[in-house]
Amino acid sequence: MSIAVGEINLKLPESAAAGVLLKNLYLSCDPYMRPRMRNSSGSYVGAFQPGSVSPLLSLSLYGVAKVLESGHPNFEKGDLVWGSTGWEEYTVSTEPGQLFKIQHKDVPLSYYTGILGMPGMTAYVGLYELCSPKKGEYVYVSAASGAVGQLVGQFAKLAGCYVVGSAGSQEKVDLLKNKFGFDEAFNYKEEQDLAAALKRYFPQGIDIYFENVGGKMLDAVLGNMRLRGRIAVCGMISQYNLESPEGVHNLASLIMNRIRMEGFIVSDHYHLYPKYLEMVVPKIKEGKIVYVEDTAEGLDNAPAALVGLFYGRNVGKQVVKVADD
Ligand code: NDP
Repeated sequence: MSIAVGEINLKLPESAAAGVLLKNLYLSCDPYMRPRMRNSSGSYVGAFQPGSVSPLLSLSLYGVAKVLESGHPNFEKGDLVWGSTGWEEYTVSTEPGQLFKIQHKDVPLSYYTGILGMPGMTAYVGLYELCSPKKGEYVYVSAASGAVGQLVGQFAKLAGCYVVGSAGSQEKVDLLKNKFGFDEAFNYKEEQDLAAALKRYFPQGIDIYFENVGGKMLDAVLGNMRLRGRIAVCGMISQYNLESPEGVHNLASLIMNRIRMEGFIVSDHYHLYPKYLEMVVPKIKEGKIVYVEDTAEGLDNAPAALVGLFYGRNVGKQVVKVADD
């Protein structure tokens, strides 16, 4: 069967007869796409291949799409899905195992690029699974107003923690305090001495650090951790554009303070997705968790939106709207 789009007839090619044909609705801009632009990719997924649209590797680019045609038993025409798609209007997915069928449709579809998709799972796994927050603990989140950070802060508040976040503008600091309910927030760009700033906000030290930034921020945090603290190493965006990463000097704090510092990749934890949905969907509907998005309109604006992540232009989750469903 083929689907007419203007002059073109779209259909699943023979070589992908067991796959699905997708119409992309929303695409996600994610920081990990930057390391994939290097030849010797410092990324946990392969480097992009110049000239190809977007390689459907084992894990590719995230988006929300509608199934136009399916040769796969798990999907049928009209299904809405999120997961691995391409930065293009239509995608032939030969790996439908990388797609999740959308069950809850009474929330904004774009949420499946954020709170109900990969960044939401990242916040959930990094905070709850790796750091086991307890009531009264002191939690610090960097890049706190972004796709992941805004959720880490709200989840930590739900766990009864004291939460401080940092971000790169007054607008974002206000958002953290007034919209997401962080106890305190500061603009890291206005601080000459990050370690001193953290001491001001955490005179008693930090129990849990959710690491999104790396470099100087990590060093400053290491000097302010409490005994038996935990650090979830989620990302290091301050390093992604550097030719050679900055050194970290305060690692001895891990020994002195018996700190557990653990890196993770969200895709190793997708078996927890149903459990996560069970927790988060009611909270969205009850207004106990809010989510802020920054939407770019049209595929043409996607590259600028992606670049904007590295200048802090996005306020909230950066999404690109490609088409109506
Ligand atoms: P965001 O929505 O937070 O966007 C990136 C933000 O990072 C920018 O808005 C900017 O905010 C901040 N930033 C950019 N450059 C710098 C810099 N040099 N120093 C400090 N802050 C900077 O992105 P996400 O929430 O999607 O991702 C957050 C982190 O989580 C990233 O490091 C990402 O790689 C990581 N990640 C890891 C996953 C995993 O499986 N381990 C999965 C998903 C994300 P500001 O204005 O505040 O500076």
